[in-house]
Amino acid sequence: MLPRARLDTTSSAFVTNKVPSPDASGEGTLVQFVKGVGPGLSSVFASRGITTVRDLLTFFPRAYEDRTRLSKIEEAPSGGSVTMALEVLGSRKIPTRHGKTMLEVRCTDGKSSLVLKWFHSPRGLENRFIVGTKVVATGNQKSYLGRPEIVHPEITFTGQPTLATPSANESADYGRIVPIYVEIEGVPTRTLRKVLYAAIERYVPSLKEDLPPAALAKHGLPTLQEAIREIHFPSEGKTNVEALQAFRSPCQLRFIYEEFFKFEFLVLLKRLRMEKLQAHRFGSHGGSAALLELEGGLPFKLTGDQKKAVSEITVDLESQHPMNRLIQGDVGSGKTAVAFLTAGLVIAEGGQVALMAPTEILAEQHYRNALLLFGTKVRVALLTGRTTAQARNELFGRMAAGEPLLVIGTHALIEDPVPFTHLAYVLIDEQHRFGVDQRRKLRAKGVRQTNAGREYPHVLVLTATPIPRTLALTAYGDLSVSTIREMPPGRTPIKTRLIRGDSERAKAYAFVKQQLLAGRQAYFIYPLVNESEAEGFTHLASAVKEAERLGREVFPEFKVGLLHGQLRPDEKAEIMSRFVRGDLQVLVSTTVIEVGVDVANSTVICIEHAERFGLSQLHQLRGRVGRGSHESFCFLFSTEKTGENTRNRLEILEETTDGFKIAEADLAIRGPGEFLGVRQAGALPFRMADLVRDLEWLNRAREDAEALLREDPALTEPRNQALREYFDREGNTQGERLTTS
Ligand code: ADP
Ligand code: MG
Repeated sequence: MLPRARLDTTSSAFVTNKVPSPDASGEGTLVQFVKGVGPGLSSVFASRGITTVRDLLTFFPRAYEDRTRLSKIEEAPSGGSVTMALEVLGSRKIPTRHGKTMLEVRCTDGKSSLVLKWFHSPRGLENRFIVGTKVVATGNQKSYLGRPEIVHPEITFTGQPTLATPSANESADYGRIVPIYVEIEGVPTRTLRKVLYAAIERYVPSLKEDLPPAALAKHGLPTLQEAIREIHFPSEGKTNVEALQAFRSPCQLRFIYEEFFKFEFLVLLKRLRMEKLQAHRFGSHGGSAALLELEGGLPFKLTGDQKKAVSEITVDLESQHPMNRLIQGDVGSGKTAVAFLTAGLVIAEGGQVALMAPTEILAEQHYRNALLLFGTKVRVALLTGRTTAQARNELFGRMAAGEPLLVIGTHALIEDPVPFTHLAYVLIDEQHRFGVDQRRKLRAKGVRQTNAGREYPHVLVLTATPIPRTLALTAYGDLSVSTIREMPPGRTPIKTRLIRGDSERAKAYAFVKQQLLAGRQAYFIYPLVNESEAEGFTHLASAVKEAERLGREVFPEFKVGLLHGQLRPDEKAEIMSRFVRGDLQVLVSTTVIEVGVDVANSTVICIEHAERFGLSQLHQLRGRVGRGSHESFCFLFSTEKTGENTRNRLEILEETTDGFKIAEADLAIRGPGEFLGVRQAGALPFRMADLVRDLEWLNRAREDAEALLREDPALTEPRNQALREYFDREGNTQGERLTTS
């Protein structure tokens, strides 16, 4: 499925047609009308999102195998995959130790013989290998006790004299480069290939090209029709198998390009629209001076990257169009300081500012920091679920009276009665923790009607999970980005160690104890709150049980506290403040601690079952320490059973503290879900394009989309008509779901 995306329906530039026209002969035809697809098969397809012919045709192979030549047994290379035409000489079933049966089929290629072998053979398979049956077998030919064999081959039963080489057109399964698809349960690969073959024969001629011909020509890419044929049934000579296997064949690049291009066009169009909206201009009525004064009052000097971010933001605030900016930087890089300073600018000129944080702990912490930073120079208020009715009413009164202030809060900020009169600057911390709706609601509170027309608020979203470049260009493509890479001076990088086995664990505990004796504090992080949560995962240590064990057995002379998401807000706050005061030396917690908690005296964090977390998340957790002047440490515990891949993955954390490097690695290993939240990542429409592999094509597509938006933003030129029809036809679900603001 290519990006389903319709342009903003509120735009008059595009007339949208919500009801797709039933087109009996075209790509919109239901898949059940394809030859060979009955009601049963079509419902299986439907469960995989394949309902139309177009869905079917864009169900792309995940890999390819070279079966262009039929080999002979004697000349087969050892190791690699071979395809050969064989005749059955005989078969036998051999009982195995585990109560299963093994099937051996002896075959000949006319000259020498070989054994096809199935351990646990599927029931009834043996009945198909009657002596004299002709088959084509594909698999790895190896030598076992000096005799050639193929274990678990793919078999095509051929009703023809197979000892001659069949011509390439006679079967989709051999004699050619064969595509391999993601398995659909209940649909044998060969059935799928047959259906695709029929669908291509019948429907490809009616497929309409959407992309401007000049774009295809520029990059040497094939047309839609040609690309669909080649991608499913690569023709020998034209398409080389290595290129296909590397996803670098022109037919694949065409779809990679197409997906990126259509997506980027929409994202950039959205950005363009946003840039046309009106916003209040800040900066030239005393705000800039106020910012400088606040900056001068800081107990530290801004880093170069912080300065740059501040100036990027102030330029945006001065513009008559709303800012829509993301600021990214590692935990502790000083994003909040930047946000507060620029809030000071807006407040000095009469604007109201809201900072929404994902948890109460974090909101309260921001509130304390803002008080420290601003003193009495700027009015700051806190609004969470725990704010008393009296305090709330008092605050609402001030807000309704139009008092310029910074309100820091949780999602309590977006509830209905919160009466901003001039919410001009919206700050969203750890923005990926909020849903699109929540972010939109807060922003909507800042939209106001003025004599000059409708004004929109400036928006700054903050994230401590650095976003890989490809995601910045796709999922966040409509945002401007400020990056803080440089850490404030005087921080010593956190030392990270993987811990395996009991003796290493004991040493780690001893080390933690030393730190505690020296007056420092420690975190212990667990993936679960308690055992009952962990059905099927009973081997996982839980926070509740471990807090008890650590307190009793490991650190009896210290006070151990427990913090998790199932506690009441006041209980959480109580535990947190005891830890902040140093009343508790050890804090056992789940990942509620992940976001932003800041206790400078904590120097050790121990993370249990580290293999269960994503790298970026571990990096975030690790950022809880190293926030003061003491050297800090992170121990990643994983079980001895942890596989090599997982260990290699975790070793990245031992090697670097650069969140950007870690983010790139995480994207490559775990995909975009780590960064976007699974739902949002699922909204990325790329079937062929890969965010890690295809960055170069993303850049090309984005450049072309930018150029097109400059030249013909409404797609009125005849050469862009097909593209415009595509956007009109396809609906805007994509654009909607990916809204970042
Ligand atoms: P972030 O929001 O990026 O995690 P913060 O803005 O909360 O980072 O800053 C982390 C800590 O570093 C805070 O205690 C803050 O006061 C301090 N800090 C911020 N900028 C600087 C700087 N330039 N020099 C020294 N300390 C700084
Ligand atoms: Mg922060």
